[in-house]
Amino acid sequence: MGWNRKVLRVNLSAGTCTPEPLNMAWANDYLGSRGLASKYLVEEIDPKVDPLSPDNKMIMSTGPLTGTMASTGGRYTVVTKGALTNAIACSNSGGYFGAEMKFAGWDMIIFEGKSPKPVYLYVENDKAELRDAAHLWGKTCWQTEETIKTSHQDPLIRVSSIGGAGENQVLFACIVNDLHRAAGRSGVGAVMGSKNLKAVAIRGTKGVSGIKDFPAFLAATTAAKKVLADNAVTGQGLPKYGTQVLMNVINEMGALPTRNHRDVQFEEAGRISAEAMHEKRATDGKPHLVTNAACFGCTIACGRISKIDETHFSVKNSPQYWGASGGLEYEAAWALGAANGVGDLEALQYANLLCNEHGMDPISFGATVGAAMELYDLGILSREQIGVDAKFGSAEALCQLVEMTAEGEGFGKELGLGSARLCAKYGRPELSMSVKGQEFPAYDSRGIQGMGLAYATSNRGACHLRGYTVASEVLGIPVKTDPLVTDGKPELVKAFQDATGVFDAAGICIFTSFAWTLADVQPQIQAACEGDWSMDKLNEVGERIWNMERQFNLAAGLTAKDDDLPPRLKTEPAKTGPAKGLVNGLDKMKPEYYKVRGWTPDGVPEKATLERLGL
Ligand code: SF4
Repeated sequence: MGWNRKVLRVNLSAGTCTPEPLNMAWANDYLGSRGLASKYLVEEIDPKVDPLSPDNKMIMSTGPLTGTMASTGGRYTVVTKGALTNAIACSNSGGYFGAEMKFAGWDMIIFEGKSPKPVYLYVENDKAELRDAAHLWGKTCWQTEETIKTSHQDPLIRVSSIGGAGENQVLFACIVNDLHRAAGRSGVGAVMGSKNLKAVAIRGTKGVSGIKDFPAFLAATTAAKKVLADNAVTGQGLPKYGTQVLMNVINEMGALPTRNHRDVQFEEAGRISAEAMHEKRATDGKPHLVTNAACFGCTIACGRISKIDETHFSVKNSPQYWGASGGLEYEAAWALGAANGVGDLEALQYANLLCNEHGMDPISFGATVGAAMELYDLGILSREQIGVDAKFGSAEALCQLVEMTAEGEGFGKELGLGSARLCAKYGRPELSMSVKGQEFPAYDSRGIQGMGLAYATSNRGACHLRGYTVASEVLGIPVKTDPLVTDGKPELVKAFQDATGVFDAAGICIFTSFAWTLADVQPQIQAACEGDWSMDKLNEVGERIWNMERQFNLAAGLTAKDDDLPPRLKTEPAKTGPAKGLVNGLDKMKPEYYKVRGWTPDGVPEKATLERLGL
């Protein structure tokens, strides 16, 4: 059946942990993970709730393929109203935590209320209890994970926790599991911190039972794994180079946002690329990259494990950072690097380590530093105000600012607001490169037009993981489209957004979509889950999830005006590269997109659309 049919409801105000049956009617309509948890959220909270109030809820959820032998089936999601965005938030993480939740017998954990004192949730199969976390409060994510494992004398416990960023409600705080995997975006860690919930520790020994048709499931997952192995991206490119392989590709396309999107090509892209990770350093003769790594059940293994140069200024007096650790991935390398004009690979790795250790989203952090550097460059912020010489390209400034933000010191507190609030505070809101308060990821939409529409309409703010048209516009997956034109992009964006909803709801990694279409996922879901899971039904599930999230955001007070890009991307043409002279054509694409979606010109789903989707 794919699901355990069991939800754990944790009332933090009352200190209770109560099991309840999973709503199977909703599972049939929303599949799991992002879709199903979002359904619970929209049914249970007022969309206008303050994200950091006890009335907000936070849901950790698996999908029906989580914990199974489906490749990449280790994903879990955190669904809540986002602290950074005031919109519905769903952040997805790999590692091993999600599978452990499934092995303990739970599909989903719903957190409600606020604990009067710091606590952590300890789950051991059916047993679930809140425990005092006074000794953990103030610890980093890494210390928290180690302390919990040691105190329970069980190294196999899986832990998701917040660091100081979540405790102090840095608005882009994330939730870190397995040391360097994170539910990264939209400020879900700040919501967890607001509830005085330090960590969730899970040990499950039940395995996964109840696959509906095991022989069919074995055949479907085996065939799908072969598709991944035979594909050049998932079988060779990602295992060898990781996602960072995109750095040079996107730079050559003129779509690598540089210095807060002033430029679209970074002259030092090669120094922070995947290829550079393989090169031997002049200082110690060792390459940055140690090995690749995989999340639970993944046959792609795109993860990077690397070692920083011990003589680098950032760590030479800090041996705790000399060991091998996670990173760099493309998004973090871009946000900490090109977005700020920093081409020092060791500095990027150090900043990334601190983001993992203290629980911060490196995309939003790095992009916010980029905005601060532009404010500094324009003379709006002074060295005295920031506390460092924050010029574009300064690796020293990047390293100091990440420490200040992680510790909540000085100007770090202002960076912790994110770029939208920071730029508004200093009278230049247009300099925040964000949508719905969330910073862009690593693709400039003047050079990849469809991404402009995907960012603007993303239900969780600017995001590459809600409609990754880069696959089509850059890599030709599943079909090649011209990145420099707007024609056909509304249909393309809708198709990617809806399909992504299904991948997320199933509990698998979106990187499989470099090789898999929904047609590869469908037989796996059909064999695992009871009921009919035809292609038509899955397409409808994806569209239903998207429209449900949209309805929540509209009820929360967002409007079509929030589906917009910063003026820079619509009025300042790209200066170099293939997109030279182009701005993003959002204003042309958006009305067409609303039509394709079956929405009014104001971006509201038509009655007929809602009825068709059963909403
Ligand atoms: S492809 Fe990468 S991120 Fe996705 S599950 Fe595998 S290792 Fe994790």
